[in-house]
Amino acid sequence: MRNFDVAIIGGGASGLACAARLSEVNRLSAGSPSSQSARLSAPRKLNIAVIEADSRVGKKLASTGNGQGNVSNLNVAPANYRGGNRRVLDEIISGDPYSGLDVFGGVLFCADARGRIYPAGKQASALCDSLINTLTSNGVEILLSSRVTSVVPAARQNANGGFTVVLENGEKLTAKAVVLATGGKSQCKYNADGSAYGLATALGHTIVPLFPSLVQLKTLTAPIKTARGIRVESHVRAVVNGQVVKECAGDVIFTEYGVTGNAIFGVSPAFAGLDFNADPRPNSTARANSTARPASTHNSNSTTRVEELIASNPSPHLCIDLLPAFTQRQITSALKEKLALGTPAQETLSGILHNQLGRAVVKYACELTGVEYPANARLVPPEEVAACVKNFCLNVTGTLGFDSAQVTRGGIDMNEVTQNLESKLCPNFFITGEALDVDGDCGGYNLRWAFLSAKRVAEELIKRS
Ligand SMILES: Cc1cc2nc3c(=O)[nH]c(=O)nc-3n(C[C@H](O)[C@H](O)[C@H](O)COP(=O)(O)OP(=O)(O)OC[C@H]3O[C@@H](n4cnc5c(N)ncnc54)[C@H](O)[C@@H]3O)c2cc1C
Repeated sequence: MRNFDVAIIGGGASGLACAARLSEVNRLSAGSPSSQSARLSAPRKLNIAVIEADSRVGKKLASTGNGQGNVSNLNVAPANYRGGNRRVLDEIISGDPYSGLDVFGGVLFCADARGRIYPAGKQASALCDSLINTLTSNGVEILLSSRVTSVVPAARQNANGGFTVVLENGEKLTAKAVVLATGGKSQCKYNADGSAYGLATALGHTIVPLFPSLVQLKTLTAPIKTARGIRVESHVRAVVNGQVVKECAGDVIFTEYGVTGNAIFGVSPAFAGLDFNADPRPNSTARANSTARPASTHNSNSTTRVEELIASNPSPHLCIDLLPAFTQRQITSALKEKLALGTPAQETLSGILHNQLGRAVVKYACELTGVEYPANARLVPPEEVAACVKNFCLNVTGTLGFDSAQVTRGGIDMNEVTQNLESKLCPNFFITGEALDVDGDCGGYNLRWAFLSAKRVAEELIKRS
């Protein structure tokens, strides 16, 4: 049976980062001078294993940010995260946006106009290579195609401390400390089927209910039926219980089930875990509502019928500004000019929006104002059509599932770990990354959590070594 000081289960973003930091101890101990006093103060070499179910480590990390690796964000703040035990969570994610990235020795990072931080070469796979190089040079053993099926604390077997880690093929390893870095339940193709939570529940841990987050949204599809496949640069507000709980600029793509695109992923945490069958405006509020504000304050000069109707919509919905670069007044003037030139009412948004989307918006304005489309579309005042362009409203009916989601809301209860992310139920058992009940917004926040939680655990293990 092979024996390790530390067994890290999962070779994803946080498992690899944790192993890389820990293994620095081995580089320091190998390079320490030969005098006896220096040898005594040098750190002890650690026997570290990364145990990965897949045939490759870092598969998900290599696919992040559309293959470019969006690893952090200049605008990082506690409001970008949800999770239990805010004190521990806020303390770990606080600080310089680049903190935690020093694990990628020698890689340069830069931010784009939206504050998203990427490696300068814009290649996520290079991040994996950097971590694998560190692990290899520092003598970390990487066990591939090795799914862990159970972790048994030695006390339960009357042995001398530590753990027995059992693999799917029946092989057993021992380790003095175990780090669970098995990620969440999002996207099965990355081995994220949720079964790894069982390793923690077997030790007595509780799983806070799991929901897909950073995910496409299902909406009522009638208003967007003719706009399928159209992509539009927008500003999207998520409205839950009559409050704007999240907003995001970016592209929106209309689909057969609802909407996707950057801006949708950005606001989707507002809808993760909502009960869409509940009566509108339930007493419970969404977890994402820390920055909530009344939906009706968006346009303080609200005068149109459309805006009044949308402001009173009790269902969870999206309010999409389809033309953020122009004011409602500018759009109204353009529409009036078109009507004066004899443009048919249903075509007035042609040249302003994609033609098909323009017709869908005019139809939507007709429906809201109770006018027959297209026969009487000319009866809808241009002010109301312009209000629909700025407030295209879609009721959200659900989210796509875990296999479409980038992250998992919920996970191992944060109240069951210490500030160093050690289990309070099982000493020397640590948990990092998405396996814990922490999820961040779209824009590099989840990898930041993966790297910083890994750093926290590695530093604690080094202190104890
Ligand atoms: C397509 C996509 C794009 C994303 N883009 C971004 C982005 O740009 N920025 C961002 O911040 N976040 C992004 N995310 C989210 C981010 O990738 C995750 O939050 C992050 O990878 C979580 O790190 P982790 O180490 O906790 O888990 P993971 O990276 O998922 O690693 C877990 C590892 O554990 C292994 N494993 C699971 N069970 C076992 C077991 N029983 N035994 C052994 N090994 C096991 C898995 O195979 C996997 O390698 C994206 C996610 C997806 C799916």
